[in-house]
Amino acid sequence: MRVGLVSDVHGNLEALEAVLAAIPTDVPLLSLGDLVGYGPDPGAAIDALRPRLQAAVLGNHDVAAIDGYGLELFNPVAREALEWTRRALEPSHVAWLDGLAYEIRMPDYLMVHGMPVDYFRYLLDKGDAKAAFAATDAPLVFVGHTHLAEYYALRPDGVIEHGERASGGGLALEPGWRYVVNPGSVGQPRDCNPEAAYAFYDRQSSTVSWQRVPYAIATVRAKIVAAGLPAACGARLAVGR
Ligand code: ZN
Repeated sequence: MRVGLVSDVHGNLEALEAVLAAIPTDVPLLSLGDLVGYGPDPGAAIDALRPRLQAAVLGNHDVAAIDGYGLELFNPVAREALEWTRRALEPSHVAWLDGLAYEIRMPDYLMVHGMPVDYFRYLLDKGDAKAAFAATDAPLVFVGHTHLAEYYALRPDGVIEHGERASGGGLALEPGWRYVVNPGSVGQPRDCNPEAAYAFYDRQSSTVSWQRVPYAIATVRAKIVAAGLPAACGARLAVGR
């Protein structure tokens, strides 16, 4: 009983295809938001991921792409890329994004883009993790948004632990502990590892495993330039920041 966790695809089709090829087709996927924005293939990324999805939540870039909401909150590069994305998406893609929810709660986990309740807040340290645990009773919270492969754990004694998984790796979930799990970003990693990130959650064995897979970064950079998107959107892919 395994699910794949993907987040922050950001219109990077080559990275998404590498991740989809690495995940067995009978493993359903949970998407944690930001399918679009920054990258040159937002519509094709939606089309490629949709058939593999069990569930998906909205990211801040998705919301801005739907109707321009919150565009003023983005930095100039992200805003320029979002304006490009809004022109590039077909009505059917916008309609599909518009049907997604901000959160999905299952008995054993919660899916949100940034934080429980405060959906687009960045979860960056143990203080943020404490706020996240306080805002939900979900034993397991799946997030994206920061583009960092990592986890926070709330021990029964109240102490919060943190672990980074930028090079991949596993985690055995302890009974009675609670966790925030970020699979990292498929299409724009920011944890200094340029390879596409994703993760598996195995309910049966109570484990999470983080994975990385290489993809054709140079191809995506060339597409970004050819599309007239800000070159910075491509340059950062090579360094994973
Ligand atoms: Zn993102």
